[in-house]
Amino acid sequence: MTGTHVTSSGASASPPDKNSVGRWSQIIAHADMDAFYASVEQMDDPRLRGRPILVGSTSGRGVVLTASYEARHTGVGSAMPMVKARRLCPQALIVPPRFARYAELSGRIMQAFTDFSPHVEAISLDEAFLEMTGSEHIFGSPEQMANRIREAIHEATGGLTASVGISGTKYVAKVASALNKPDAITVVPPDKAAAWLAPLSISRLWGAGPKTQARLKQLGFHLIGDLAVADPDFLKARLGSLGMHFYALANAQDPRSVARSHRARSLSSDRTLEHDISDPADIRRHLRRSADRVGTRLKKNNYLAGGVRVKLKTTDFQSLTRQRLLNEPSDVADVLYETALSLLPAFASSGPFRLVGLAAHDLIRADGPEQGDLFNSHQQSRELEKTIDALNQRFGKNAVRRARDIDSSTVLGDHASDLDFLR
Ligand SMILES: [Mg+2]
Repeated sequence: MTGTHVTSSGASASPPDKNSVGRWSQIIAHADMDAFYASVEQMDDPRLRGRPILVGSTSGRGVVLTASYEARHTGVGSAMPMVKARRLCPQALIVPPRFARYAELSGRIMQAFTDFSPHVEAISLDEAFLEMTGSEHIFGSPEQMANRIREAIHEATGGLTASVGISGTKYVAKVASALNKPDAITVVPPDKAAAWLAPLSISRLWGAGPKTQARLKQLGFHLIGDLAVADPDFLKARLGSLGMHFYALANAQDPRSVARSHRARSLSSDRTLEHDISDPADIRRHLRRSADRVGTRLKKNNYLAGGVRVKLKTTDFQSLTRQRLLNEPSDVADVLYETALSLLPAFASSGPFRLVGLAAHDLIRADGPEQGDLFNSHQQSRELEKTIDALNQRFGKNAVRRARDIDSSTVLGDHASDLDFLR
């Protein structure tokens, strides 16, 4: 089933060309799991293998998070309303998502990537960029690199497949990984990249949503190659800086470098207290306040928390922590708070404590391509919290609060030293 696609005259049939490898001034790989959630479900439950399945809410509301390949030929896919998907593919089994399991496997995949490069940028649970420049002497040609990455994923997950695109820019590597799915390697040498992009639809432009695509078509651009030969001044006049961005992408130029992984990061709010506390109600109030702060900063920085950690420091300076993966990545303060509360009974000590802290860990980007669908179950809380954040930003800290938080303000003055940080 594995396909290797190499864009250069006949290179796929001949051994790797040392000279062409030498011309790559930058090597970037993009690895993307094939139908990740659905494949995990099929791996874990043999009864689901070979059958059309839709991962998503079984309530009939909400959207399809991932459809297995057996279901896709009917036209169903990610982000489609479940009602519509069930109509198109009535034989499909609906499987509820298990985000903690996906996060666990994602952790193993990202860990495997660190064997290949110190620069791994996860852009969702199941995709990452790897900066591979300069590692030819370790891993061989770009094609061999891509193959070894694919094998490492297979091994780390116990059998899942991924598709890997490899080229000289993030953009081309990303398009390449998607083009020949599943279980495929697509190698696009940088000097062939613009020609390789040219016949593709503008729907393959990274960052062009449906509205932008419609606008581009209105202007007469249907293929990426149409944009590549457009008049840059015209694009700038019609689309502003976005026009110039697309012009650069269409010409296979993308200056963005691979950032270090976001997954290792955590975001926390710790408070060293003026007075030691042991009353559970006081601990809860501090956690509430920390959850609000962390939630605000997650949303502001476009992250979702994969897990929540509570830290308590006893008066004899012992640090105690308990943590838990969320069932569904979230930036909703209510969810962080409820999870923190659920961890409290797990602490052996009942105080007194001199520090109460809450951290969001296993962060993932909220703007990854598949993450938009994850917000469904907490969409209302999320919108409310965003509104509160915006008002507070405009009218001053704590200008707006939910009624149930107001009593905590008497306890939590701003005298407690605040050690907010983003590592
Ligand atoms: Mg994927």
